Amino acid sequence: LVRVRGLRKSYGGTLVLDGIDLDVREGEVTVLLGPSGSGKSTLLRCVNHLEKPDGGFVEIDGEIVGYRQDGARLRELRPRLVTRQRAHVGMVFQQFNLFPHMTVLENITDAPVAVRGLPRKQAVAHARELLARVGLDGREDSYPRQMSGGQQQRVAIARALAMEPRLLLFDEPTSALDPELVGEVLNVMQDLATSGMTMIVVTHEIGFARKVADTVVFLDGGRIVETGPPADVLTAPRHERARAFLTAVL
Ligand code: ATP
Ligand code: MG
Repeated sequence: LVRVRGLRKSYGGTLVLDGIDLDVREGEVTVLLGPSGSGKSTLLRCVNHLEKPDGGFVEIDGEIVGYRQDGARLRELRPRLVTRQRAHVGMVFQQFNLFPHMTVLENITDAPVAVRGLPRKQAVAHARELLARVGLDGREDSYPRQMSGGQQQRVAIARALAMEPRLLLFDEPTSALDPELVGEVLNVMQDLATSGMTMIVVTHEIGFARKVADTVVFLDGGRIVETGPPADVLTAPRHERARAFLTAVL
């Protein structure tokens, strides 16, 4: 489903992604690990073209994100068309990023109605199903500030699902949560994985990676230094940096 090749990205002369190759097959969960500043967020942001790569490309479903093929050349897509591509990729952030002035229901139905042109009634019915799925039945009229962090993050997941994405990206979805609320969000994510959702997850929750990931990718200094099934990467990392990192977070 996702093919990343030779991806490079710099900020003001500093190379942040240095030739990333990554494949994510349909229905698989990939967990990205790595020290702060290793480029995890930048890689996720390149996948849905919130950042424009300086080299290489991201392909989703055979389409290069942000570009279209014009004979042998690649031409940049107009922003409106990038939005359409991005509609198939959901993203969940550390800070939930819900609209504070909107109810839960409005948060979830906003994009499907505005971007996909779904009739409001249909969007509302779908939102109710999604709320049940994330364990928040009956909370449609609440405002984000009336909910715990774990509940808000589950609303954010429901909002991402409302666009019926083919791929979900999570950037440290539980890092801003009180410890006792982490589990409820991870459980929802695990259910999604079981139901066959393709996901790329940046997280330091090693237990989640061990249980749910098909592939664990360890980034350091903008390169993939280790990749493989969790049993290999998490138990017997070959790379010194990965070993040191795992010792520190476990
Ligand atoms: P963390 O675990 O702290 O979230 P990360 O692995 O997600 O780290 P990135 O956020 O991808 O790391 O950042 C990689 C490097 O790129 C860092 O050195 C960061 O300072 C730099 N960087 C990221 N975004 C920008 C930006 N918009 N402008 C300038 N530098 C940036
Ligand atoms: Mg980050």
